[in-house]
Amino acid sequence: MAVNAEEVVDLLCELVDVDSRNPPGDERPALDVVLRQLEPLRPEEVIVFEPLPRRVSAIVRLPCPTADAPVLAVNAHLDTAHTEDSQWSDGTARARLAGGDVIGRGCADMMGGLAAVITALREVYRGTGPSAAIHLHLVADEERGGNWGTAQLAAAGMLAADACLIPEPTGLAVSVADRGVMWVRLRTTGTGSGGGRPYVAESAIVRAARIVADFHGVVLTTADDLLDNSPCNVGTIQAGTFPNAAPAEAFVGLDVRLTTSDEPAAVLHRIREMASGAATEVLKLVPASRTDAGHPLVGLLTRQLGTDVVGSPGPSDARYYRALGISTVLCGPGDPRFAHRPDEHVSVDSLVAATQAYAHVFASFTRAAR
Ligand SMILES: [Zn+2]
Repeated sequence: MAVNAEEVVDLLCELVDVDSRNPPGDERPALDVVLRQLEPLRPEEVIVFEPLPRRVSAIVRLPCPTADAPVLAVNAHLDTAHTEDSQWSDGTARARLAGGDVIGRGCADMMGGLAAVITALREVYRGTGPSAAIHLHLVADEERGGNWGTAQLAAAGMLAADACLIPEPTGLAVSVADRGVMWVRLRTTGTGSGGGRPYVAESAIVRAARIVADFHGVVLTTADDLLDNSPCNVGTIQAGTFPNAAPAEAFVGLDVRLTTSDEPAAVLHRIREMASGAATEVLKLVPASRTDAGHPLVGLLTRQLGTDVVGSPGPSDARYYRALGISTVLCGPGDPRFAHRPDEHVSVDSLVAATQAYAHVFASFTRAAR
């Protein structure tokens, strides 16, 4: 299928130049651009959710020429990770083309994938139309865990589909597994002191420092066939007010990435054993999730793109679908290592390849799924 590179690049630039940074989070302008682009496809139904002012998600059901066709959901988040323009090399995060790449905030994660999906749909509808019923789930808040986006659609019972494609940046590899994440806060205590005689032997800070050394870089989890066991990260320390006093308590924050081989309760038990007396509090727990790599959607994409089946380093909105038994894969243009940071970029070649692959999936999904 011939894809017009200019069409996908122009749409991507328009989406990048909408400010969708989360925080603070305002998905309305990006949704307006997408809905305007989809108008020529004559959606059968558009359902908009706005659980908080300006935090909008929408389900767009597109017409399907085949009766009783399976439903393929495409979940795309409308928010982008927060970066300041001053952090970018050129002093701006606005979209621009350089050396075969589009550069700009959110161009890979995931405005590039979204632009490729829309361009592919327009291409398919210029022909005989898709073989599946395509339901777009355009969502808020993925960058902050999806509570105001996909989680709201899940709570409303609106995620039903036979399979789901999420165009997150994967370098066009097909990801069928997400690592889970556990954040644990450890609280150490000691003998507090005032300004006159600040030194105490039993310092909460010294105990916290031992915890930092004991946990940082240590592997607490078990690899599975797609997700390797990433080391524990100590991301926060909170303690003390002034140098001339010893605090009575200190806090250390850990991030642990979970695989499908890990039982979260067992990992927490191990943390408690290693933390020798520190109190533990789980601040966040998202289990790992995965889809059977033998699903037809995986084969359609890997054959078309010539890429591998992989796992993803952290949780995505895929977990909400997988929890409902809906086979869900991530596959999109852009290198995930460059997402969420200044000078994010995506190659025009990968945008075109993604658009071609998505058009192939939309045209062939029903035959592959039956
Ligand atoms: Zn993303």
